[in-house]
Amino acid sequence: MKNEKSIQLFEKAKKFFPGGVNSPVRAFRSVGGTPIFIEKGKGAHVWDADGNEFIDYCGSWGPLILGHANDKVLNAVAKTMQNGTSFGAPTRLENELAELIISNNKYIEKIRFVSSGTEAVMSAIRLARGYTGRNKILKFEGCYHGHSDSLLVKAGSGLVTFGNTSSAGVPESFVQETIVVSLNNTKAVEEAFAQFMNQIACVIIEPIPANNGLLLQDKEYLQFLRDICTKNGTLLLFDEVISGFRVGFEGAAGYYDIKPDIVTYGKIIGGGFPVGAYGASKEIMASISPDGNVYQAGTLSGNPVAMSAGIAQLTECLKPNFYNDLAEKTETLVKGLSEIKTNDFKLFSVGSIFWIAFTKREKIQTAEDIDADSMKYFKSLFHHLLENGVYLGPSGYEVGFVNEAHTDADIQRTIEVFKLAMK
Ligand SMILES: *Cc1c(COP(=O)(O)O)cnc(C)c1O
Repeated sequence: MKNEKSIQLFEKAKKFFPGGVNSPVRAFRSVGGTPIFIEKGKGAHVWDADGNEFIDYCGSWGPLILGHANDKVLNAVAKTMQNGTSFGAPTRLENELAELIISNNKYIEKIRFVSSGTEAVMSAIRLARGYTGRNKILKFEGCYHGHSDSLLVKAGSGLVTFGNTSSAGVPESFVQETIVVSLNNTKAVEEAFAQFMNQIACVIIEPIPANNGLLLQDKEYLQFLRDICTKNGTLLLFDEVISGFRVGFEGAAGYYDIKPDIVTYGKIIGGGFPVGAYGASKEIMASISPDGNVYQAGTLSGNPVAMSAGIAQLTECLKPNFYNDLAEKTETLVKGLSEIKTNDFKLFSVGSIFWIAFTKREKIQTAEDIDADSMKYFKSLFHHLLENGVYLGPSGYEVGFVNEAHTDADIQRTIEVFKLAMK
């Protein structure tokens, strides 16, 4: 595979950006080698600066559920842009996207648009604290919620711990407000509630944890969280930045039929533009400024170009059978790959999300169950796939996404390439 142009571009990028990138995982550190610089995308395919073509399963890390450069999204964006790109005043398009979402989602009554998933979660946490008048939050090891201070925290050793910061620059005092426990562990959560009675503002979870492998939880566990939160006057916050509009229009809440108190969205909601959102009941959302005393604002929030991309994309998602077709296609891929029986190679999947793991385990439900040493197999697999025109997110901890644009031919080709790579 030719990659001189990507190498040149990366050398130049390293002069401008830390590690040559504007978001760390793009630097290929966990798989080694040089990142490919993307020139263009169409449907399920991307082309790099050297002219190589790839079947793409990264999909910009999830947002592109229709594939790249979808005509409906592009047309909507082009039309909106003719009238200006930002006003800092309300526009009709915000109403349209909000109505589209709320009238097709029984879990939220009001919504606020922001510009990223991180911002959505950071604001939702503030809302939970403001609404309950409590400071502490409980999160799970192995769930990612963006890079705001109180969430860059990893578990210490022990059943219930305050976390250790997982980034320099996060004050110890912030971390004192974040309790971290293992996923799939009822005892740890019960213990935390016993220890910090009436102090926990919210429990935050990715109901489908998909940022550190795919750590599928049992429905009973999510129901347990729902019940213990209700009992303790604690809000249940579903971070659906990945799962929202991905496993169904109502996300994981709809998939499991469990009602969270606050939900956050990102990724798919913006049709490939920077949009995030948080939503809840009218009563909870009444705490948000200017109705309430929880302050949150944004110069580019509800940006009209981004709103029109979101409207175009989510309108497609509402077509009959959209999610069934996507799940069926994913099943074909997963079945095809699962027939390759080497090196304890396994696939875990839900809806159109899949994760490749090298493990002897039948289930992986906690971060601790992932064998860090097995990542060497992923590294080797990744480069074989790349050489043969299949692009995955460049880390064994990342999931893959099947999008509407993947054809049967793409899926079959991918299975063939995997078979060769595994040999
Ligand atoms: C991607 C993601 C975020 C962060 O969103 P950004 O847009 O990258 O800031 C937060 N939570 C979850 C569950 C995510 O998948």
